[in-house]
Amino acid sequence: MKFLYTLLFALISTTLLAQDTYLHCGKLIDTKSGTVLTEKTIVVSGNKISKVESGYTSGKKGDITIDLKDKTVMPGLIDMHVHIENESNPKAYLERYTNNEADVAYNSVGFAKTTLMAGFTTVRDLGGSGVNIALKKAIAQGKIDGPRIFTAGKSLATTGGHADPTNGSKKSLVGDPGPKEGVVNSVEDAKKAVRQRYKNGADLIKITATGGVLSVAKSSSNPQFTIEEIKAICETAKDYGFHVAAHAHGDEGMQRAVMGGVKTIEHGTLMSEKTMDLMKQYDSYLVPTITAGKEVTGKAKIDGYYPAIIVPKALEIGPKIQNTFSKAYKKGVGIAFGTDAGVFKHGQNAKEFGYMVEGGMPAIEAIQSATTTNAKILNMQNQLGQIASGFLADIVAVNDDPTQKIETMENVVFVMKEGKIYKQ
Ligand SMILES: [Zn+2]
Repeated sequence: MKFLYTLLFALISTTLLAQDTYLHCGKLIDTKSGTVLTEKTIVVSGNKISKVESGYTSGKKGDITIDLKDKTVMPGLIDMHVHIENESNPKAYLERYTNNEADVAYNSVGFAKTTLMAGFTTVRDLGGSGVNIALKKAIAQGKIDGPRIFTAGKSLATTGGHADPTNGSKKSLVGDPGPKEGVVNSVEDAKKAVRQRYKNGADLIKITATGGVLSVAKSSSNPQFTIEEIKAICETAKDYGFHVAAHAHGDEGMQRAVMGGVKTIEHGTLMSEKTMDLMKQYDSYLVPTITAGKEVTGKAKIDGYYPAIIVPKALEIGPKIQNTFSKAYKKGVGIAFGTDAGVFKHGQNAKEFGYMVEGGMPAIEAIQSATTTNAKILNMQNQLGQIASGFLADIVAVNDDPTQKIETMENVVFVMKEGKIYKQ
């Protein structure tokens, strides 16, 4: 008899523990088909979506119901280009010499939380000091709140290139960084640098295929890797299940990157029609970062915000990014939503949606690029980017229908990540 009671008690408590959440959605964006559905219920069990039902349904006693009947609900957003460790400020260049790793880490905790609260439940971090790897782990272990992070760890550059960590330093601080520090000057260095990132705990590889705006160096756009080096990076990356992202403003470096095997071109500012064709042929995606272009242009006009060598580069490159996006989109290049948050304030990632729509992309496609497209590039297409049975319960909501009013994306009012509510 006592055994039976114990069994009964165990059964009841299991049922009570398996408490489901029913989200009543006035509008629901189906990112797979690109349509807006009405009056749906999402049932969340544990960290996953168990089903999506028509109408407003409710579960058993003890289940939770959340009323989002006057909201538009969609999958958690994915930003393919952030720098979660840092945020632009007028002292940023000095802070490279004054901040220790722990200072960077404490700052990054706030940036991660801000990003999650803006509705971005997943980000691809494209380069920092390595604190990004620790941050990713801390979030995954539930120690702090933030988006799920796929990180490149430290970006790979060539000597004096866009992510050489000692650019602009005085001689006694320069040293001679090598593959371990992310600086590559040969095919052999390239292999070692990728393997070192694997050892460090990175999820993917980022290279700086051309000069960049915010590095203390003259060119914004010259090619900075040979195609042999890029091929060695991409082939080695494949051995570890990594894809490769390439920062690129100049056309020659961009072509080498695409033909060398990178999956995404970041910024793509001076992209020619020929390169657009190559991207289609090689199935690579453009990550536009229009917001970063606008923000650096604005900041370059503030006296003393950037070191002097950066100002002309920012004024040359920044204003061109949106136009390149428009041309590439019209030509049929795959577009993966990404902003370069960190170059501007974290949490403002959703501004990019407005700029994409302004650049000629329909709102629904901009939302698909931030969900289904990005999930596919991250090889998470069966877990992220859709609200469907079996997917992770990453769910966000906004007040208005973004297909009618895109600015509503900048005001996310509900955030759930893996079944846990962070904002309501
Ligand atoms: Zn970047």
